[in-house]
Amino acid sequence: MGLLLTILVIVAAVAAFLWYRQRSAAPTGAPPAPSNRFHAVTIHIRADACPAVRVFASTKFLAKEAPRLPLENCTAPVCKCRYEHYDDRRTEEDRRESADAAKYEGEQKRTRKDRRRSRA
Ligand SMILES: [Zn+2]
Repeated sequence: MGLLLTILVIVAAVAAFLWYRQRSAAPTGAPPAPSNRFHAVTIHIRADACPAVRVFASTKFLAKEAPRLPLENCTAPVCKCRYEHYDDRRTEEDRRESADAAKYEGEQKRTRKDRRRSRA
């Protein structure tokens, strides 16, 4: 009987821990949770954005380091500033792709044989 009670106490403790962790993992008003370690955000500045947020117009942040919106000193009646999301890994892939395309185009020009054949 003592063993059954011990098991029940352990199960209850694990359940309470999981419930507590799930509840604390959902922050409100915080920057969006990063999908990977290098997830980056910039702040999209609208034409009517407050002066406070314009300071960050061209700054790229790691998602976990981005300032929270609206900013503490935001002067707009309703802050319309939004995050724009970047997946840094995807940007690198795009760059690699276009470099390969340029190389392939160059090879095509070099291996053209029509000129020699028309002369003979
Ligand atoms: Zn604002």
